[in-house]
Amino acid sequence: MEAFQFSQVNTVNSALEAVRSQTETKFVAGGTTLIDLMKLNVETPKRVVDINSLPLSQIESTADGGLKIGAMVRNSDLAHDPTVQGRYPVLSEALLSGASPQLRNMATTGGNLLQRTRCYYFRDTAYPCNKREPGSGCPAIDGFNRIHAILGTSDHCIATHPSDMAVAMMALEAVVHIQGANGERSVALNDFYLLPGSTPHRENVLVSGDLITYVILPPVANGARAHYLKLRDRASYEFALASAAVVVSLSGNRIQRARIALGGVGTKPWRSIEAEHALEGREANEHNFRAAAEAALKGAKPRHDNAFKVELAKRCLTRALTNVTQSA
Ligand code: SF4
Repeated sequence: MEAFQFSQVNTVNSALEAVRSQTETKFVAGGTTLIDLMKLNVETPKRVVDINSLPLSQIESTADGGLKIGAMVRNSDLAHDPTVQGRYPVLSEALLSGASPQLRNMATTGGNLLQRTRCYYFRDTAYPCNKREPGSGCPAIDGFNRIHAILGTSDHCIATHPSDMAVAMMALEAVVHIQGANGERSVALNDFYLLPGSTPHRENVLVSGDLITYVILPPVANGARAHYLKLRDRASYEFALASAAVVVSLSGNRIQRARIALGGVGTKPWRSIEAEHALEGREANEHNFRAAAEAALKGAKPRHDNAFKVELAKRCLTRALTNVTQSA
């Protein structure tokens, strides 16, 4: 790990001030990604600003029945919040499927959205990596790519986004609120992440000095059912090979509204409008679930070691839809 300057702040304004004229500065919250990557010399900030004392740890209902989640809310607190468990169970399930209890006690909402990829080559500075060093190459494309993405990839990067929480938030149509040098702005989560294209080092719309302050979940429709299903190599402390977050409203046995997102297969948490269109207005049955899964994976581009993910993701989505529509 390289030496760095360290400071602590306790207001949003002081956090913004700390990074205003200082490039190569990183905010640290739970540290569950950043500190790991600093130990590996993948991240080498000159300055680190500790934001753990910021007053952004509240979970509050909004006037319209939605939920406001502060950026510093710990993953464990969010997963076990009674409102989240009651109104947004897909989010609670996704959070509890991620990492370990110790990590969830530290990891924050804002930090979880900004998790970096688990691509082996990205995390090992002995290899080139376009995400780490733009223009240096992508050894994953012709290398070992079992955990890599099949949706949203480019000839420059095929890294998978690792978050479970963000997949659930994608299906819940979350909105991210950001404070930066030019004031406050909000961005729909579906627009927050960038596809790798030829610039995989740019992963989201944040610019230098931006700070995520909170996330808004819109109200869920009365009677909506939701579920997160995660498939992985071992039962805990493991990233998804494929996952599905589903939020559906039924009228009788007909699907009125569906919101679908996939994890473990995309270069960003993957909202599937195609699957949603394939489901809405249709009977809730396995034939239609499978048709939606086919639509979701239609654009998949598998590589040498990850072709199995195409069928795995289809079965994951089909099973998640079956589970949620059969629940009482
Ligand atoms: Fe780097 Fe992306 Fe290639 Fe992995 S897949 S080596 S993160 S460019």
